Amino acid sequence: MKNRMSKSTGSFNGKLIRVDLTTQRITIEDCSDAMTDWLGGSGYAAKLLFDELPAWVTPYDPRNLIIISAGALIGTPAPGACKMSISTIGPVTGGWATGSSDSHLGVELKQAGYDFIILEGRSTRPVYLYINNDVIEIRSADVLWGLDTWETIDKLNELHGESLHSLVIGPAGENMSRGACVLQGKYRAFGRCGTGAVFGSKLLKAVVCKGSGYVHVNNPSAFLHKVSECRSRIMNSDTFREMGRLGTVNSYRQRQKIGAVAYKNFQGYQLPDDLFESIDPEPIIKKYQISRSGFPGCPISCNRIIHFTDGEYSGLTSMMSPYEIVGGIMSKLAIADSHYQVKVFTECNRMGLDVDMVGGAIAWAMECWQRGILTEDDTEGLELTWGDKNVVSKLIKQIAYREGFGSILTEGSAKAAELIGRGSDYYAMHIKGQDLYEMMRSSTGLCLGVAVSTRGGTHTTGAPCIEQSSIRVSDDEAQRIFGLSAYQVQNPDTYDGKAEMIVYYEQLTRAINSLGICLFNTVWLDMNFMNLDDITELINQGVGLTLTTDELKEMTMKLIDMEKAINIKFAGFDRTDDMPTPRDITEAVPDGPRKGWKLDMNQYNLMLDRYYELHGWDTVSGLPTRETLIRRGLDNVLEFMETKFKE
Ligand code: SF4
Repeated sequence: MKNRMSKSTGSFNGKLIRVDLTTQRITIEDCSDAMTDWLGGSGYAAKLLFDELPAWVTPYDPRNLIIISAGALIGTPAPGACKMSISTIGPVTGGWATGSSDSHLGVELKQAGYDFIILEGRSTRPVYLYINNDVIEIRSADVLWGLDTWETIDKLNELHGESLHSLVIGPAGENMSRGACVLQGKYRAFGRCGTGAVFGSKLLKAVVCKGSGYVHVNNPSAFLHKVSECRSRIMNSDTFREMGRLGTVNSYRQRQKIGAVAYKNFQGYQLPDDLFESIDPEPIIKKYQISRSGFPGCPISCNRIIHFTDGEYSGLTSMMSPYEIVGGIMSKLAIADSHYQVKVFTECNRMGLDVDMVGGAIAWAMECWQRGILTEDDTEGLELTWGDKNVVSKLIKQIAYREGFGSILTEGSAKAAELIGRGSDYYAMHIKGQDLYEMMRSSTGLCLGVAVSTRGGTHTTGAPCIEQSSIRVSDDEAQRIFGLSAYQVQNPDTYDGKAEMIVYYEQLTRAINSLGICLFNTVWLDMNFMNLDDITELINQGVGLTLTTDELKEMTMKLIDMEKAINIKFAGFDRTDDMPTPRDITEAVPDGPRKGWKLDMNQYNLMLDRYYELHGWDTVSGLPTRETLIRRGLDNVLEFMETKFKE
């Protein structure tokens, strides 16, 4: 392969920390090739997981790896360069699992001189990893085990006599709930995929890190020039102003207008007017916001801190709940109490639970209750009535501690439905086991992007949001970015061109996830934000590569091949796993302006064929072809597949 690295490695350190929790051995390894061949970050994590783990390794096997990555641009002023990733073989899908989050800890790790932490083995006692520049120690977490995430963070700060940045798990992780996530600080989660449960399986409670070095860039003046150009495009936009005003919940009214708010486990696509008004997050922000909250390098700073001064939750201070809470819990469970969205966000955070899994599992259960599939005999006396927030709060605790009916829900809706049977699987809204808050019938591109997502159903790995946006895309913009017309990009009903758009967004997400950049700073949200040309220049000037945009795109295609290979190796996924849910195939849009619109599965399958062709994957099996693997230099994947499919 062509050497794309100029002399300096700029903002990429080329060093990883490997920690064996079984033997307590800590080593520092060189990983200079991680950037040139894999873009660092989650791309390199995928390569390590495939290369180092035998196919029989399951998520909770001690041999499984947890790979914490601080992308090459983290610690630089590149817009939104603060997203750290955690990757592993995950318990939700059994395959590729990765989640990213805003993270001060990523900056600290880079400043300490490292790009990755790899954790393997299993400790015999609860531990946490302490990193302070060159001092790296596995320390006892006996006093932390059993605490919720907020208590853990407070205790860590008390133990160290200072406020440190940390990644922590809560009771959900300790009890290996499939919905367990890892929190960075008290509010930001590495969501979905159950990464917190893998921490718990290794008796790893937390990682803390302090670094006091500097993150250099390869060509400071060219890099800063590009950063400033990108920042000014972002900051001179209406999207920037709206995100600044309301954060991610700014889309609530638009979604209701177009019929893209899930009601009672997707039985409705629009909320009744009274429920819509009683969930509306805007009045909370107007009345209770005490500050904005951002992360290093982010011009948007979409987070805000809320402090209730009256009402049922008076005294509660928390980050304002993101749209996932509005669309994934409040509307889906029909909870008519706007203040509760902050409360339930806090409860999930303290337990270390992924909000999408919580919303998905409880919505499934409530619909099963509504239809008489579940009764008090199943729920140990709990009545699962829509809108009952007290029951929701009780279930969240039960899920985290694996108690009562929560011991079923803690598996997520897909596995819970398997355990219950009685036809309940139809109401489990998931892709590859991953609970959905995404509304697959709301638009064709979103549907495809969510269905093919390698980490299970999710909107952040290639699915577009632009089909549902109030922002109008011009033909020039659509052509410049995707090579498509505005109609193809934005019309939610057309299947034409959607595969091309998904592939572009997949390339974008793999590039930024590897580098550590936030999706909201890119053309995913607004056509004037950063595109792949901008990202290419930032890599070249920041890290010292000499990539063209086409070369970057081809590298990201290799990363997606590798994620796919992980899913083949550990989960056995194929084309049948890239389909919409049975409900989305069977039912039409129930209400709203697109009422009656139904997925055309012939068209869907043609769109999926086109998507596979663009990747160089076989349209029958959905797996990478021999030619593709050879072209992308993935000989080891080819060897594995040839052996596997000969058996
Ligand atoms: S836009 Fe929001 S989520 Fe993204 S980096 Fe900025 S603060 Fe974080």
